[in-house]
Amino acid sequence: MADYARPPGTADILPEQAGAWQFVEAKAREVCERYHFREVRTPVFEHTEVFERGVGDTTDIVQKEMYTFTDRGGRSMTLRPEGTAGVVRAFNEEKLYGGNLPGKFFYLGPMFRYEKKQAGRYRQFHQYGVEVIGSDDARADAEVIELADCYLKELGVDKYRLELNSVGCPTCRAAHKALLLAHLAPVKEELCADCQTRFDKNPLRILDCKIDGKRPEVMSAPMIVDHLCADCAAHFAGVKGYLDALRVTYELVPTMVRGLDYYTRTAFEFVGTELGAQSTIIGGGRYNGLVGMLGGPDLPGVGFAGGLERLLMTLAEDKVAALSADTLDAYVIVMGEAANRLAVQVMQRLRAYGLKVDADYAGRGFKAQLKQADRFSAPVAVIIGDDEAAAKSVTLRDMVSKEQRLVTIEHLLEDKDR
Ligand code: ATP
Ligand code: MG
Repeated sequence: MADYARPPGTADILPEQAGAWQFVEAKAREVCERYHFREVRTPVFEHTEVFERGVGDTTDIVQKEMYTFTDRGGRSMTLRPEGTAGVVRAFNEEKLYGGNLPGKFFYLGPMFRYEKKQAGRYRQFHQYGVEVIGSDDARADAEVIELADCYLKELGVDKYRLELNSVGCPTCRAAHKALLLAHLAPVKEELCADCQTRFDKNPLRILDCKIDGKRPEVMSAPMIVDHLCADCAAHFAGVKGYLDALRVTYELVPTMVRGLDYYTRTAFEFVGTELGAQSTIIGGGRYNGLVGMLGGPDLPGVGFAGGLERLLMTLAEDKVAALSADTLDAYVIVMGEAANRLAVQVMQRLRAYGLKVDADYAGRGFKAQLKQADRFSAPVAVIIGDDEAAAKSVTLRDMVSKEQRLVTIEHLLEDKDR
């Protein structure tokens, strides 16, 4: 039997929710404008290598979550699981490194991961993200973090905390890794299957494993932030100092290691305090190796990505409802065939003035049309019957006071600029 249901983990965003979506998207654009981040739109699919290389082949995303397919030309393509790799690919391909640096970009759009469906976890979801490419200045890290903080505040989201850490660079990580492996070796066999793989490939990630992260042996492990090289320590002190100056409150969380392989130095997460298991709204950090790894010059970068579905979950229900309210400025009530021609002209003109206007096409009677006007909270009904049509007039009804007055169409239809 044909299956016409939408695929698991996807959603239909209906008009009742679309207003809230438009609000969070418009706010993202507006905040980015003020912070001088400019929009980039990259393809929804890329050559698979872009993500294998750009996200890292030991990550959950690349190991288990990608939608990969062979196109008709025999190439391996993948629906983008995240935004940064594509932005960096475009930055390199379009040689934006030859322009004004740092480049400050943002994106908004759907991402695809084959994940187990849970509340707040979908297979097609939407991210808003920003990237600063070409600066290692601690002010860039602080700006990106403060931008996210400002975005959440201006959306009216207040139940969140900011977790901050530094994961160092390849130099400090090599020294730390030896200590970490020595500490965890006695319990290696007891760790979850994922962590046994991580032990060999990316042991740092054991620290924030959802299964093993709370084990005493893992919690007592040497933390990378206590083993930073001098440069990374100075950079981290700079980031914290700027955040203090900006009065952005943060919590230092030494076990927080972001999931993507390309992170260096700053790592941060904005966590909703009233969301359940999937509580990270925005995650980000510095990725100093990525631009070079994707074939570009050796330029540093820092950015974040936030999940719009999780953000919308934190908005109050009444706010979401108000944002998507279905209202009109005027409702045109038509009685009689002869009135229709005048009515469509009146609607055209009122819409040209910028008013939200609609009429009945379902053959409702007069009373039912009045009800429609109320249903859409229209403050005014424009009544056109055969008498009005003959007199080239319309009746304006104040839907609250119920007062009515007749106005000529010359008056109503007069040219805006006359
Ligand atoms: P998680 O720990 O929840 O798996 P992640 O580390 O995979 O998150 P990122 O890749 O950093 O997340 O993505 C940034 C943000 O995008 C997340 O904080 C979350 O808000 C959102 N996000 C990630 N995956 C999903 C998903 N499958 N469904 C909905 N939102 C998601
Ligand atoms: Mg994930």
